[in-house]
Amino acid sequence: MDKIDRLIIGAGALGLACAARLAKPGESTLIVDNEKLIGSHTSSRNSEVIHAGIYYAADSLKAQLCLEGRDRLYAWCEKYHVPHQRIGKLLVAVNDAERSNLAAIAENAKACDVNDLQSISQQQLHSLEPAVRGVEALLSPSTGIIDSHTYLQSLLARAEHNGAQLVLDTRIERLEPTSDGWLAHGSSGGEPFSLHTQQVLNAGGLFAQQLAHNTHGLSADLIPTLHLCQGRYFSYSGRSPFSHLIYPMPEANATGLGIHATLDLAGQLRFGPDTRYVEQVDYSVDPGLLEPFAQAIRRYFPKLDSSRLVPGYSGVRPKLSRLGEPAADFVIQTSTDHGLQGLINLFGIESPGLTASLAIAERVAGVNL
Ligand SMILES: Cc1cc2nc3c(=O)[nH]c(=O)nc-3n(C[C@H](O)[C@H](O)[C@H](O)COP(=O)(O)OP(=O)(O)OC[C@H]3O[C@@H](n4cnc5c(N)ncnc54)[C@H](O)[C@@H]3O)c2cc1C
Repeated sequence: MDKIDRLIIGAGALGLACAARLAKPGESTLIVDNEKLIGSHTSSRNSEVIHAGIYYAADSLKAQLCLEGRDRLYAWCEKYHVPHQRIGKLLVAVNDAERSNLAAIAENAKACDVNDLQSISQQQLHSLEPAVRGVEALLSPSTGIIDSHTYLQSLLARAEHNGAQLVLDTRIERLEPTSDGWLAHGSSGGEPFSLHTQQVLNAGGLFAQQLAHNTHGLSADLIPTLHLCQGRYFSYSGRSPFSHLIYPMPEANATGLGIHATLDLAGQLRFGPDTRYVEQVDYSVDPGLLEPFAQAIRRYFPKLDSSRLVPGYSGVRPKLSRLGEPAADFVIQTSTDHGLQGLINLFGIESPGLTASLAIAERVAGVNL
C-alpha cells in the first residue's frame, strides 16, 4: 500500500492554498479531487472579488481571516503575477432609510479594523458613477477583483514546486484512523485504492460533511449541518456603465450581499448573486429570473436596459446557517475539537473564502498535528 505524509482532499482554492503552504521538498503531499479539472465547484463559481472585510462580526474568523487573507492575496498576486485590480467598491444607499444601514456598516468595518472606508455624498457619487442612483455611499478602496483561475493555477504551481502531486478524477470515500495516521479509501478513474497517510485535510467544500460522515471515529455531533444556498448571476452584454463594483445594502444576516454589479478583469459586467436555499447542488440559472433581477438592479441603476441581461452561471454556498439565522462562522476543526490526531476538517467556507484562502492555509499550517 502507498504511504504518504499528507493527503489533501479537494483542489479548490482552500485545498490548493493549503497544499501550497504545507508541501515541503522531501515530504510527500498528495492533492486529490473528484473532478477532472481543479476548481470545478465553488472556486470557479463566485464573484472573484477580493473582499475588504467589512460585513462580518468583528470577533469572527471570517472577519480576521478576510482581513489577513486580503493582504496576503494582494501580495501573492504581485509576487506570482496573478491578474488582479484594486478597483474599489461603492456601497450605495438608495434612499434615506438606507442611510442608517450604511452608518451601521461603516461602524462594523471600524470594529473589524477596516479603516479606509470613505463617505461619499450624493454629488460625489454622481461624478464617480453617473449611471448610479443613490443618496449616499461608502467607497471601499481596498476591495478588488482577481482572475481566480490563474490564482488556482499559481497555488498549484507553488505546491508542485514544493513536491506536491495532484491526482484528478479521484474520490476519497472513507477515512479510517490507524495507530500512526489514517487509511484513506477511494477510487481513482473508477479503480478502488487505499493509501496510508500521516495527515489528512478535508477541504471538500460542498462535500466536506459527506466525507466527515464517512470518517471513522468522528462523532456525528461534531459535524455541522450543511445548508446549500445557491447564488445565480446574469451577465450584462455590452460596455459596462460602471467603473467600480456597485453594491446595494446586504440582505438580513448577510445571507447574501444583495444583487450587486461586479466586473471581471476583461471588463465584463455581471449582476448577482441572489440567494436561494436548495436541497441539492444545482448550477442551473432560470431565465425567468430576469424580471426580479432587473427590479433589484433598477433600484441603483434606473436606466438598465433589461434586454442586455443574459442568464450567466451560478454557484452554491456551503452555509452552516439556515435562512433567517445569524450568519455562521468558518469552521477549522482540528484534534483539539474532535480528538483525532492528524485530521483537519474545513466546514462552511463560503464567502469570503476565496479572499481568506491564504490566511486559512496559514492557520492550518499552525495546527499542531
Ligand atoms: C455565489 C458565490 C459567490 C462568491 N463570491 C466570492 C467572492 O467574491 N470573494 C470571495 O472571497 N469568496 C467568494 N465566494 C466564496 C468562495 O468561492 C469559496 O469560499 C471558495 O471557493 C471555497 O473553496 P473550497 O476549496 O473550500 O471549495 P471548492 O472550490 O468547492 O473545492 C472543493 C473541492 O473538493 C472536491 N471534493 C469534495 N469531496 C471530495 C472527495 N471526497 N474526494 C475528492 N475530492 C472531493 C470537489 O470536487 C471540489 O473541487 C463565493 C461563493 C459563492 C457560492
